[in-house]
Amino acid sequence: MNFTGKTAVITGGYSGIGRAVAEKLASKGADIALVGIGSDEDKQAALKAVGDLGVRVKAYDCDVSDFAAGEAVIKQIIDEYGKIDILINNAGINRDKLMLNMTEAEFDAVIAVNLKGAFNMTKHVYKPFMRQRSGRIVNLASIVGLNGNAGQANYCASKAGVIGMTKAVAKELAARNVTVNAVAPGYIDTPMTQALSDKVKDEIAAMIPMKRRGLPEDVANVIAFLCSDYASYVTGEVIRVDGGIAM
Ligand code: NAP
Repeated sequence: MNFTGKTAVITGGYSGIGRAVAEKLASKGADIALVGIGSDEDKQAALKAVGDLGVRVKAYDCDVSDFAAGEAVIKQIIDEYGKIDILINNAGINRDKLMLNMTEAEFDAVIAVNLKGAFNMTKHVYKPFMRQRSGRIVNLASIVGLNGNAGQANYCASKAGVIGMTKAVAKELAARNVTVNAVAPGYIDTPMTQALSDKVKDEIAAMIPMKRRGLPEDVANVIAFLCSDYASYVTGEVIRVDGGIAM
């Protein structure tokens, strides 16, 4: 696997799975543009970790739910790096609650980042990828977008939407040698899931056939495969990375 000469844009790249993807692609030679709104501490740590791998890296503060900001940041990255080869739509949030108690604002916020954010970024690489007749897009879905989960109607809807959008855009861009795929992680240890108590985390691990929670690197490895030449004939696919829990 070799990404030398490629530029990868990773949204939500300052922490969790996004940072692991950045490090994985960088370790194989990709130049990295991190797009996020995380803390300055996370941003600096991600910049150092990726920079230490000897590739070009820069962070762009941008809220992916803002269409105009997404357009501006993609334009700026193309201006500065010359081109984009890989887009990872990873930025995501959750606002978990039974629908009984879920507010309209909580529903809208999750859709705005997880689904509309992926649209906003994809929309602005669409033409460049068409013109260059190459490109890789990987969207972060979730097993709950396939199976549903009580207390996550907003999140499940956003991730099911991401899966539908992945397949639609994969069909639109296939003839242009652009692949569009999704990964559907199960339970992965990241800042998004750290609020759970150790007891709940252990109970989750016990329910997973592989008897352990996932690591960000487990997801990053599959994303790297989808971005690589090994996956050049794979598009519109959704790959679960879940230790077997959604079988
Ligand atoms: P995370 O550590 O919270 O990472 C998400 C990143 O996205 C954070 O850096 C976050 O910044 C950033 N972000 C949030 N809203 C944004 C916005 N509007 N614009 C730009 N960046 C934004 O969570 P993660 O677990 O790595 O999640 C990564 C992706 O995997 C998400 O799409 C998530 O839904 C998906 N996923 C995760 C799991 C899991 O078990 N962890 C399972 C299935 C799917 P802040 O730090 O400021 O919030």
